[in-house]
Amino acid sequence: MATVLGCIADDFTGATDLAALLSRSGLPVSLRIGVPAEDTADAAAFEVIALKCRTIPVKDALEQAREAFRWLKEAGATRFFWKYCSTFDSTNEGNIGPVAEMLMEELGTRQTIYCPAFPENGRSIFMGHLFVGEQLLSESPMRDHPLTPMRDSSLMRLLGPQVRGRVGLANRLVVAQGPAALSARLEALASESVMHVITDAVSDEDLKTIAAATADMPLVTGGSAIAGQLPRLYVERGLLASPVKTTTMEAPKGGQAVLSGSCSAMTRRQVTYYAGRSASLRLDPVTLAGKGGGAAEEWLQQRSAEEPKLIFATAEPEDVRKAQETLGLEKASQVVEQALAELARQAFRRGIRRFVVAGGETSGAITQALGITRLAIGPEIAPGVPWVFAEVEGERVALALKSGNFGSETFFEDAFRLLEAV
Ligand code: ADP
Repeated sequence: MATVLGCIADDFTGATDLAALLSRSGLPVSLRIGVPAEDTADAAAFEVIALKCRTIPVKDALEQAREAFRWLKEAGATRFFWKYCSTFDSTNEGNIGPVAEMLMEELGTRQTIYCPAFPENGRSIFMGHLFVGEQLLSESPMRDHPLTPMRDSSLMRLLGPQVRGRVGLANRLVVAQGPAALSARLEALASESVMHVITDAVSDEDLKTIAAATADMPLVTGGSAIAGQLPRLYVERGLLASPVKTTTMEAPKGGQAVLSGSCSAMTRRQVTYYAGRSASLRLDPVTLAGKGGGAAEEWLQQRSAEEPKLIFATAEPEDVRKAQETLGLEKASQVVEQALAELARQAFRRGIRRFVVAGGETSGAITQALGITRLAIGPEIAPGVPWVFAEVEGERVALALKSGNFGSETFFEDAFRLLEAV
């Protein structure tokens, strides 16, 4: 089947989030890790390529995204989606703007939109400002993120330094008037050479309006929620046939583990909750840098595959800062990611087949370490977090790749419980 929508995600949990929301339509969604080595023969209607390019140098991000774009184009895609986090995770040197501009250039298009809103998860945009629940982004726990601390909430100001073209806003007052008013606003902005349009959205109704006005744009950018509106529109517009009934997938059997490298506020609550209900081990970046991960590996060896277990580097902002001061930001992240990736490999060898992983970058490191290249999308545990199934060395494994602030306090437990029911 030719691909209708080709999607590129800037991290792995973002890709599973996007795939989950597209999958709600019942239409075929395929998720690939990194630029596929295989040809496009079995491409699905919705193809998602997961990159790990959120915090890498711009030049490398552009190269990876360009290769992903070419593969998707080869698969038949005529519309493209550039997925980043619903909290716009990036820095001034970040890659959201540059990748969007590169894709616009490849597609020869003059305008795209930026809509990271995800109302179901409390992410909304009003007058160009991003909110997490009732807080401005810059006043939310995202201000203390280890890699991309978000200290401003204005998407116009955040995007501005990342792009060459002009940035503008289609605000809620316009969006509330419906697709025709929004289209007119986009045209007016285009006539002023505004290439990059932030679109306000505070509800799913707003997302429906935005999707209706932009579904024919060659490139749309944003969070998973706006993309989730597209399959229905494609069916309505005759680009795709209605979904046929999908078969349910069987969950793989085998032991379980939670691996957490996320320091986000929600993950910290989830770790505290689950640590009281499982064997748990805390990793310290400074110790890892000095002595390696041997002690943690030994700890894992002493656990049975089946018993609930949690290994986490998750720490309070104060401790993250201390580790970063001692080791440097990159090194602190890197030792944690490497240690968790090695532990995931060892866990697999010990018969663990059900992994819950917390953290976008962490999920990237672990999925790569397990050599996973393609994922099938299973049931959604919480909005935007599905179980995904993959093959590792000929064995099926289930993974829940959770972005930092997603899920409720009981997420880890909920995830395993849901898998029992599959
Ligand atoms: P999230 O989805 O919450 O953003 P990520 O995994 O994307 O989580 O990012 C968290 C980053 O913080 C990772 O690179 C991880 O290695 C790093 N990290 C985890 N624990 C610590 C710690 N205790 N000190 C410093 N950095 C840490």
